[in-house]
This record gives sequence, structure tokens and C-alpha cells, in this order.
Amino acid sequence: MTDYAGRIHRLEGELLQSGLSAGIFSPGPDLRYLCGYDAKPLERLTALIVRPGKDPVVLSPFLEREAALASPLGEMGYEVVTWQETENPFSKVAELVVSDSSIAVDGRMWADKLLRLQKELPKATFRSANAAIANLRMAKTLDEIESLRRAGAAIDWVHNQVASLLKVGRTEAEVGKDIADLIIKSGHISADFVIVGSGPNSASPHHEVSDRVIQMGDAIVVDIGGTMPDGYCSDSTRTYHMGTPTAEYAKRYEILHEAQQTATRAVAVGVPCEGIDKAGRDVMELGGIGHLFIHRIGHGIGLETHEEPYIVEGNALPLEKGFAFSIEPGFYETGVAGARIEDIVVCGDSGAIVLNNTSRELVIVE
Ligand code: ZN
Ligand code: ZN
Repeated sequence: MTDYAGRIHRLEGELLQSGLSAGIFSPGPDLRYLCGYDAKPLERLTALIVRPGKDPVVLSPFLEREAALASPLGEMGYEVVTWQETENPFSKVAELVVSDSSIAVDGRMWADKLLRLQKELPKATFRSANAAIANLRMAKTLDEIESLRRAGAAIDWVHNQVASLLKVGRTEAEVGKDIADLIIKSGHISADFVIVGSGPNSASPHHEVSDRVIQMGDAIVVDIGGTMPDGYCSDSTRTYHMGTPTAEYAKRYEILHEAQQTATRAVAVGVPCEGIDKAGRDVMELGGIGHLFIHRIGHGIGLETHEEPYIVEGNALPLEKGFAFSIEPGFYETGVAGARIEDIVVCGDSGAIVLNNTSRELVIVE
């Protein structure tokens, strides 16, 4: 059983420390993390209101009350304040918080909702709850690590079949559709992104799919991920090649592979996030392709595909046990070809626990 009450208790501590009298969480990953309620992101206001020193309150449209209580939230015994279609839910929030204090809202709250809260609470100062909630969400519990492990195994199962889908004459979009179907078949409830970047498109890191026809000699970057029924996400990249690559491409790929492995070996409790980026980048630079590695080396992952901590130069935050993030160096020669290798790893007591385990060698498709 997830200790949701413990999470809310820890959040209250974070809010107190930051001088915040309340945290208001609308539907989204923060709300789901705090109480297990995967609420629909409707125009109607649903909110969990956390108040240090007072019991949390759930504000729910009357017609969503049963759905809210059917989630783990229902077992937590918090007061549920409902509102009818003709009522103003924002004035109800105003009655539940201190009107002239600092109040945090989740970073994903719709601007429209925040503006209406500001109208009801003109003396309040609104701040982002991102830092407070990231302090909880970054370090994963053992249950969460198991969830990420299942997501990783599911996406590995898909990657193991990608080579058989890549054929000269098929389009990226056709391959992408097959991959999306496999992502669902593997146990995900949604295929969140499918990147099939072939030939020159492999040099565009966030290319998705196009009608480009796969040709002999193409490098193909396949970066895929989805969401599992428990909300945890997968994200893994492998690079495929139609036929034998040029000697230069193969050499660059070996440098990339070494960079990805070096960064993975650098993972340890206490190492700053930026140290992982540097470990990989140094290998790329030494190999003469540092200038082609044009993005950060990784991002946190959990209930969102991209979340804190970001593994980037300038982020001195030391890794803690349970931090889960991607390690995904790449090289991109615009208009020509690119490659990327991406695994999800968890920081453990004795280094990285790697959650994606398909071969990281360039996959040659004959
Ligand atoms: Zn990623
Ligand atoms: Zn990815």
C-alpha cells in the first residue's frame, strides 16, 4: 500500500519550511502522487488543499465526488467539500485558506484556474509548489522503483521487436504505428511518444514520424515510451542502421556508446546531477564529437516522462538514493545522420540500477 498520508505529511513540512500556508493541487501528476486520485483534467475545479497544521480538504464538483472517493483518496478520510454546477468553487477555496498568506499551487494548474483563485484571494501571494513537491517525488520508494522496472521491461519488449519492423520501402509513420500498437500490447495504457527518425531525420532529436521512406544506408533513431496502468512511465532509445554503416558513423557510435556507459558508471549517491552530464560529455569531447551532442544528458522520470531532477550542467543537486532518470547522450549532424542511446537508471547504494537492458550496440538491420 502506498503511504499517501506520509507523502502529504512530508509535503506539509516542505510547505512550512518555505513559509507557505497551503498547497492547492489540481488534477495532474502531483495530485496523483499525493493521494492516488487520477482525476480528469476538466474545466470544473477539483483540488486537494494541503494546509500545514490543519487537515487536508478535497474540493470536488458534486458529480465527480463518487469518482474521487473510489480512488485511494476515499480511504484517507479527508473532508470532501463539493460544489454544485451553479456555485463558484473558487470562493469555496478562499474560505479554506488564509487569505493574506503565501499559497502554493501545482505547476500544471491551468492559468485560468490560477487567475480565478487570484481574483478570489487578492491579498494572497501565489507561488509554485514545484520545488516542494519535487523534493518528495525525486527519490523513488522501492514500490515506485518496481513500477519503473515494469515499465522498463515493457518498453524493452517493444525494442526487441523493432528491428523486424524496419524494412526498406516502409515509411517512418507505418513503422511508428506498429510500434505504438506494440507499446499498448506490452502492457502500457498509452503510447506517449514514438520517434522513428530515419536518415537525415535521425539528426533531429525530437523528430516524431514522417512519410519519409526508409532506405538502405539509413541510421534510424527509435525513441519510445508510454504510461503503465499505475501511472509510471517508460522511455528508451536505441539506434538501428539499415545495412552496414560507414566507418566514420561506426566510430562515432562507439564513442557514443562509451559516453553512455561512462555516464552510467558515474552514478553514485552524492554525485551532482551535472557530474553525470559531464562524465558523458567528456568522452564525447575527447572523441571529437562533443560539438554534436546538443542536449542535456538526461531527465528525471516517474509519474511524468520528464520531471525533476534534470541531468544538466548547472544542476549541482547531489544524487540521492532512489533518484530515477534517463542517461541519453546522442550525436546529431544536421542533414546527415544522428544516434542516441537512452536508458532509465535509478541511483542505488552501489551505483546505477539500469532499468533498460536491450543491447546498446548499433542494431544492424540487413
Ligand atoms: Zn528521455
Ligand atoms: Zn527518450
